[in-house]
Amino acid sequence: MEKQLSCPHCHAKTCDGAKIGRRGFYFRRFDRSRLRRYYCHACRRTFSFATTSDFYRSKRRDLDVWLPKLLAENCTQRGAARVLKASRSTIERKFARLGDLADRNFQLAKSKAESVGEVYVDEIETHVHSKYHPVSVAMAVAGRTRRIVSFEAAQMPARGLLAKKARERYGVREDQRESCRRTVLEEVSRQLVKGGILKSDENPHYTLLVKELCPHAVHVTHPGRSGCVTGQGELKEGRFDPLFCFNHTAAMNRTHISRLFRRTWNTSKTIRGLRRHLYIYANYHNDVLIVPARISRDQSRLHNQAGQLQRSRLRRPRPSVSRVQIENCREVEHGRASRSSQFNSNYADADISV
Ligand SMILES: [Zn+2]
Repeated sequence: MEKQLSCPHCHAKTCDGAKIGRRGFYFRRFDRSRLRRYYCHACRRTFSFATTSDFYRSKRRDLDVWLPKLLAENCTQRGAARVLKASRSTIERKFARLGDLADRNFQLAKSKAESVGEVYVDEIETHVHSKYHPVSVAMAVAGRTRRIVSFEAAQMPARGLLAKKARERYGVREDQRESCRRTVLEEVSRQLVKGGILKSDENPHYTLLVKELCPHAVHVTHPGRSGCVTGQGELKEGRFDPLFCFNHTAAMNRTHISRLFRRTWNTSKTIRGLRRHLYIYANYHNDVLIVPARISRDQSRLHNQAGQLQRSRLRRPRPSVSRVQIENCREVEHGRASRSSQFNSNYADADISV
């Protein structure tokens, strides 16, 4: 027995005395790897480490690695389909799956996150289908590190010149921003140290909600300012911006998520899709973009060592696999995706090594 094993079917564990033996190997065509198969004597079924993997039975494992990166580096879904040589519908299915996985990883990271002394809270606006259906994304950003602490998207009624026309065409649109502000502030309350500073603009909703949900926080407000062209309207005109941490992160969101660009023809079709894309970006932001280069270099060295171990187990790829797929797999297995080793580990490292 190599290590403590647990049967994914009946949950019997070797440490509890269950008998789990080796039962040969099986061959995985996509990356030409040979995987150990195990046999559980309790339920008489076989399994491998791939059985419990998030990408069990995935036939395009390269997409699981590269799609989140492309989506977080301002590529559209159709663009990613062209780059990765996959069909649009494959990318659509993978996007949904990776979005849900990113959601799970983000919640897990949140539960393990260190407490913060300063948090910025504000909202950015986008839309679903057209500007008659606006959506607000409430977001909290940690002060020093600019880590995305929490976010939530909810529908809101159209404002300004479009408000009247939107009501005429589509009726009254319910304002659900209160619930998303609550979700974000509840998470902030959990992560903010006692007596920590919570900064926001002078929106009166925040004043009341912070008193209710984060009574231990010191709430500091600053007047909102008009945006400048730089940072797609998120960075503010003038010399010093007290909410720069948030505004810079919002500008990064707009730059890295194709559907959040200003004046774009990329639009979200559903709030659920928008949320999935935001989760994929939030993980990439927290694990790759804001991580100092020195730390990610160290991580990539570890990643390379793991890659060398893995390489020795691989044979030459069969010719029928496309060149892009082979290149993509090699990149991952040789650890060339340097700055994103942490991000990889969330998605595919464990999977490719089994
Ligand atoms: Zn079993």
